[in-house]
Amino acid sequence: MAGVTLDTVRKIYAGNVEAVKGVSLAIDDGSFCVLVGPSGCGKSTLLRMIAGLETISDGSVKIGDRVVNQIEPADRDIAMVFQNYALYPHMTVYDNMAYGLRNRGTPKDEIEKRVKEAARILAIEPFLARKPRQLSGGQRQRVAMGRAIVRKPQVFLFDEPLSNLDAKLRVQMRVEIKRLQKALGVTSIYVTHDQVEAMTLSDKLVVMSGGQIEQVGSPAEVYRRP
Ligand code: ADP
Ligand code: ADP
Repeated sequence: MAGVTLDTVRKIYAGNVEAVKGVSLAIDDGSFCVLVGPSGCGKSTLLRMIAGLETISDGSVKIGDRVVNQIEPADRDIAMVFQNYALYPHMTVYDNMAYGLRNRGTPKDEIEKRVKEAARILAIEPFLARKPRQLSGGQRQRVAMGRAIVRKPQVFLFDEPLSNLDAKLRVQMRVEIKRLQKALGVTSIYVTHDQVEAMTLSDKLVVMSGGQIEQVGSPAEVYRRP
């Protein structure tokens, strides 16, 4: 396991758009940090830099004591869950979950063990042989999380993972994500524009605005009204 440390991280896109303006933040090992703020405030960009999916214009991101942009992508112990699930439609649920491990050359029996364990935790064992189109939205979201879990990452990143679900499922999955994160003890960073989601999930809540951190604290501190 490992915490995540951001030191004056900046992102300047082509055309001189400064999407992230010198963000510094320490996220404790095993904690749940939520980045909340309006559309366009730089949340996704920040998350994608932590994931190594976006170059960092200035500053540094550390996972534990390792600088993320100096770690080979294949060695990064980071798993990301997206809102569109990004499942492979032609593969079974089993193969979707096994895919990343096969690419890394994980032994077959180890893959099977991890996929079955994740499927049990997420209650998707009955669906392992199905294709994503034969699943409901909530089940697909579980598969996407299963694919992240099987890698046993040090850090989970969530980019608005529930925004395609209906209101009822969103509440249900929120509870599940929280339960899962506690059970696994994986450092998690979660991006959303939904304040209720931010409040219920976070240990540390980071409010962003215009590419900067506006407020940091526990949900009670941040949402306390005078
Ligand atoms: P959020 O996730 O909070 O909605 P983003 O990180 O997606 O915000 O975007 C932050 C800012 O960066 C926005 O002004 C957006 O238009 C801009 N932006 C995002 N991606 C790119 C890109 N690939 N090229 C140029 N500008 C971008
Ligand atoms: P191979 O590496 O030879 O493809 P695998 O053990 O990875 O063998 O699995 C073969 C196929 O059987 C996979 O494509 C997968 O879809 C399916 N499969 C394997 N284990 C299960 C399981 N427990 N439940 C459902 N399908 C499975």
